Amino acid sequence: MVVAAGLSQVPCGDGAVGLATIEAAQARIAGEVLRTPLIRSAALSAAGSPVHLKLETHQGTGSFKLRGATNAVLSLDPPARARGLVTASTGNHGRALAHAARAQGVRAVICMSRLVPANKVAAVEALGAEVRIVGRSQDEAQLEVARLVREEGLTEVPPFDHAAVVAGQGTIGLEIVADLADVALVLVPLSGGGLAAGVAAAVKGLRPQARVIGVSMRRGAAMQASLAAGRPVAVEEVETLADSLGGGIGLDNRLTFALCRDLLDGVVLLDEAEIAAGIRHVFAAEGEVVEGAGAVGIAALLAGKVEAHGPVAVVVSGGNIDAAAHRRIIEGAA
Ligand SMILES: *Cc1c(COP(=O)(O)O)cnc(C)c1O
Repeated sequence: MVVAAGLSQVPCGDGAVGLATIEAAQARIAGEVLRTPLIRSAALSAAGSPVHLKLETHQGTGSFKLRGATNAVLSLDPPARARGLVTASTGNHGRALAHAARAQGVRAVICMSRLVPANKVAAVEALGAEVRIVGRSQDEAQLEVARLVREEGLTEVPPFDHAAVVAGQGTIGLEIVADLADVALVLVPLSGGGLAAGVAAAVKGLRPQARVIGVSMRRGAAMQASLAAGRPVAVEEVETLADSLGGGIGLDNRLTFALCRDLLDGVVLLDEAEIAAGIRHVFAAEGEVVEGAGAVGIAALLAGKVEAHGPVAVVVSGGNIDAAAHRRIIEGAA
């Protein structure tokens, strides 16, 4: 067997993601991920158009990221699988990859900087992954990922800019259209764009007239800034309630920038108070604990920042929020 040093990537064809790729991903990950419920929100539907919530908060590891990670793991050829997987994500993608790898009996290494809090390290270890603590920044952790790919032949599974990951996230779009055939508008949280690109490709592949809008926080919206500039740009990373939406899209973005540019009908930006209102609303009205990133679609509707003409589906992307932080928001702080 020949290993192309430094080129170890999950096979992803020519990098394109379309309906057929997403349908293949759906067949591949069926039984490994939850087909999440799409529930009608009576409170949000009172304004006129029926609003449905796609509850990825119920997904294994608490976010949709399990879909893309599972599709990536299952797409590996056996020799690459035997060498193991690596990523530098400390958040929902790291959790998801740890879980997906363990479910398939594959080694996963999650690289983190020394600044990552102990509870995040423990959470990933509890999912059976090896944690490697290196350096003092995310960039240094990413250098260790590159080294492990180069020197030990591990396969990097990036959090969004990868065809198998995008296709896995796109399975949400297939489920939405299956459950809500006349969907007119889909609201999707937007950071690196793997989720939005996959969902838009699936929804528009089945229902071209449906609109798909990305929602980000105003603070540090890297994809929105990149779309406005016409190329991937860096933005300053600042603290936000939607912490899972932080970070850049990569200046060497291969896939998600072009997909979001070509498929999204717009991007809406939210202030912190609007995101907090979304978290409060979904807890009060639906009893769902939702993290900031997961609540932005609901927040956009509450803030009157999107107009709906017909059935709306809102991707509620994750629920991993610190319990004390959630309580503070529910009690009206932030
Ligand atoms: C990663 C993540 C997002 C954003 O997904 P991208 O593919 O990076 O755009 C949204 N919500 C949650 C909960 C996430 O973990």
